[in-house]
Order: sequence, then structure tokens, then C-alpha cells
Amino acid sequence: MIFNYENIKKIKSSLSFPSQLFINGKYQNSITEKSFENTSPIDGNIINKINFAHQDDIDLAVLKAREAFNNGYWLNLSPAERKKVLLKFATLLERDRLELSLLDTIDMGKTINDTYNADLPTSIDNVEWYAEIIDKLFDDISPSSNEYMGLITKEPIGVVAAIVPWNYPLWMAVWKIAPALITGNSVILKPAEQSPMSAIKIGAMLSEAGLPDGVFSVLPGDGPITGKSLCLHNDIDCVAFTGSGEVGKLVLQYSGQSNMKRVQLECGGKSPNIVFADCQDLDAAAEASAYAIFGNQGEVCSAGSRLIVQKEIENDFVEKVYELSKNMQPGDPFDPKSFAGAIVNTEQLDKINKYVNIGKKEGASVQTGGNITMKETGGCYFEPTIFKDVKNNMRIAQEEIFGPVLTTLTFSSFEEAITIANDTEYGLAAGVWTKDINKAIKASREIRAGTVYINNYEEGVDSTIPLGGYKQSGIGRDNGYQALENYLQVKSTWIKIT
Ligand code: NAD
Repeated sequence: MIFNYENIKKIKSSLSFPSQLFINGKYQNSITEKSFENTSPIDGNIINKINFAHQDDIDLAVLKAREAFNNGYWLNLSPAERKKVLLKFATLLERDRLELSLLDTIDMGKTINDTYNADLPTSIDNVEWYAEIIDKLFDDISPSSNEYMGLITKEPIGVVAAIVPWNYPLWMAVWKIAPALITGNSVILKPAEQSPMSAIKIGAMLSEAGLPDGVFSVLPGDGPITGKSLCLHNDIDCVAFTGSGEVGKLVLQYSGQSNMKRVQLECGGKSPNIVFADCQDLDAAAEASAYAIFGNQGEVCSAGSRLIVQKEIENDFVEKVYELSKNMQPGDPFDPKSFAGAIVNTEQLDKINKYVNIGKKEGASVQTGGNITMKETGGCYFEPTIFKDVKNNMRIAQEEIFGPVLTTLTFSSFEEAITIANDTEYGLAAGVWTKDINKAIKASREIRAGTVYINNYEEGVDSTIPLGGYKQSGIGRDNGYQALENYLQVKSTWIKIT
């Protein structure tokens, strides 16, 4: 298929919008017959009504997931056989790439260019990567005395609930379900209420790929009812969560209030992006810095939302970012040439607007942007916004806005830059721009964040490198070998040799 505006519009007009729960290998309505309206932020129109999973649906999905796990339909397949199923799933994702991309674009407003050229290829790569490694991993034998053989093996944890956000609907789901499934678990996916359609669609695709019934379910619904009930369920062994820190803390509490299920958390960030005056290529740094906050409408957990620039280059550098921001305005999300699309919904749009007003009241100055735009569409759009004269104790420098709003801070010394960078409750990512390798390594060691980008920002996202947070940005990791650990437990077996 040629990826152009005409073809996109053609496929869009014949698209069907999934709306049901997926349990035990088939689609069904919610037992309570409850539903919620699914609205597109592109134009404010209602797309469809989505079935809303309540306790009875959750109990049924958990029962089927547990049965499938206990029966070993999936778990007892050899890793090489499980690999084939996920590799087939990857080919189906490629087959339905445009359809899935459109579902995510329509649901949450990001551009078709982002969904088709970034989210889908990276999701496919992630599925392939986990499929490919599973039959190349070995367990351990302990260096115990000759009287014993100690086997240290890894086993799937059981039934996993994956609760995911809306900013990369399919991609964030795949980050959980690919490692959880490949290790032999049963998985129940709860997509965000703002972006459920691609998640619902992949239910049937996993069955088509050969996944046994019951191993994978999709339960659309909201957080306070569906998400909370999953977290409190006594027959779920692990909740793998991506979302806000506020909800992440609730998930930990729910675990304590129920069966002490394992909790993995990927939460928010307020990531520093430090530009030293000795940066070799300030144009490249400016481009990456602009992309790091205006890409995906700024709705990125690891967005470089705090630009920390050495004083002597501040004016020139911010001017460069400002110039670049002119070409990073939102546009029609279906146009492959648009850089940015719509903000996910009116609540998020209001939140961004509220923070801009807070920033102004706190005494920061708006260099550019600061306004809701494209109102004539009926959708939710916000201009790329740059704040100057920001102090790190201001709310706009401390709290996650999750929109295209950049706060600019300055520093004089290396120590001051690191102090500002670390002065936040978050620790997800950071950027460092300098030609001095010693400074770069020292900064990377001293910044308390799960990922540090040196002379780039988020250019190298791939499945091999773990992503996750220090401090209140999370517990555990997505991606890499490390993500497998979220879904495995360690078994020690002592064998006496007589
Ligand atoms: P959110 O916390 O509001 O919701 C995330 C998910 O949790 C949704 O599915 C929601 O329905 C569910 N949920 C809400 N309340 C719940 C409850 N009481 N119990 C159980 N589940 C509940 O977050 P969001 O607005 O969807 O996403 C934005 C947040 O996600 C940002 O903070 C962003 O930084 C974070 N995020 C982090 C990463 C990462 O890898 N660290 C990636 C993407 C997004």
C-alpha cells in the first residue's frame, strides 16, 4: 500500500470500529451490558460505544486465564513453538498496519505519520524481538557442593493484568504483552478508556496467530472500576502498569489490600535535557530538544520537558528551538505531512492550558505559543509553547504537564546543572549535550534517571535497551531482557546426589 493522503482516506472510510470485550478467544458484549462513548479528539465526534468491563466480565476473563494457565495449553509449548505464534502475530500486525494505525490516530489524535511510521514498526519489532530470544535463554546450575545439584530455573508468574495509557496505545500494550506472553503467562489487557480500539482488535489477531483460547483477553473500561477491580483481584498474580504516578501509587495499595500481587510500574517524568556551552553541534541539539518536547504533542513520558541550558548560550539556543517550533505546529492528523496532531481529550487540553496560566502567574514568560488552536475543527489542539525565566521550584518545572510545553532553565556550573536535573521527584530520562566525554560520563553517573541520552535525545528507542524509572518514575523495566523478569519467578530445586 502506498502511504499517501488519498489511500489513508480511502481505508479510513471503510474501517470498522471494534467495540467488544475479548474473552476466551471470542468477542462478546459486557455481561452488565454497560458501555461508554468513545470520542475522537480530532473533531470531537463520537466514534462508537465501547463495551465497559465490570466485575462479572473481569471474573470471567480471570477464570479463563487461570484455566488456560493451569491446563498449560500455552505454557507447556516449547519456547520454540511459542516463538512461532508470536512471529505469526508480528506478520499479522504488518498485514493490518494501516488499519491499526488509523484506529490509534482516530482514538487519541496523534498523527497517522506517527502511528504508521513509528508506533507500528516499533511494536512489530518488539514482538519479533521477544519471540526471537525466548529459545536462546538458559537457566542456571548453582556452584553448590558435589553432594547436591542446585537448579535455578525461571517460571512464569501466572495471570498478568496489563494496564496501559493512551499516549502510544498499541506500542505501550505490546511492551507488556510481548514479554508476558512469550514467558508463558496468561495476559489480560486493559487499554486506556481514551484509546481502546487497537487493543480490542489484536485479541482476534493473537487467536489467528495460534494463541490458545483464554490466554489473552481484552477488557476495555475505565480506571476506577475496571482497572481497580483488576488490581484488587485475588487471582491475578501481577499487574504491569504504565501510567501516571498518582495511579501507580494506588496500584501498589491495591496489591497490599488484596493478594500481594507483583506490581511493575512505568510512570511519569519531568526529564531534564542539559545543554552545555561546549556542545559540538548546537543545531542538532536544538532540533532534538524541540522534538523531545513537541513530538507526539508532548504526550511522552520521557519528554525532555525541562531544557537546562548553560547561561552564555541561552538566548541563541532558545531562539533556535523557537525557530524549529514554528514547523512543529499541529495539523490534520490524517495528513502524513502533519508534524503533530490533537491532544487526547478536552480534560488533557484544559490541563495543559491550566499549567500555562499557572506558569504565567508564577512569573515565567511565554517565548512562544501558550494557546489552544484549531478550534474550528471541534477537536483539541495546542500550540507548541516555550517558557523562559523559569525557576526550578515553579510548578511548571516540577509537575508533569504531558503536553507541548517546554520550560527553560539556566545554569552556570556543572554542579548546578546536575543539582537542577536531580531536583524533581521523577527519574525517568535525561539528556546531556557536550563534546567533553569526561563531563558526559560524569553527568550520566550523577543524574538519577533510568535512561541518559548523551548527544541525542530518544533517537535510539529500540527493544534491546530497558526503559524505566528511578525515584517516582517507576519500579521495574520495560524492554530488553530485563522486562522478562517482570513476568518470571525464580524456582530453586535442590537435588541430592547419592
Ligand atoms: P493514568 O494513570 O490516568 O491511566 C493509565 C491507565 O491506568 C489507564 O488504563 C487507566 O484507565 C488506568 N487507571 C486509572 N485509574 C486507575 C485505578 N484507580 N486503578 C487501576 N487503573 C487505573 O495515565 P494516562 O493519563 O493514561 O497516561 C499518562 C501517564 O502515563 C503520564 O504520567 C505518562 O508519563 C505515563 N506514561 C509512562 C510511560 C513510561 O514508560 N514510564 C509511558 C507512557 C506513559
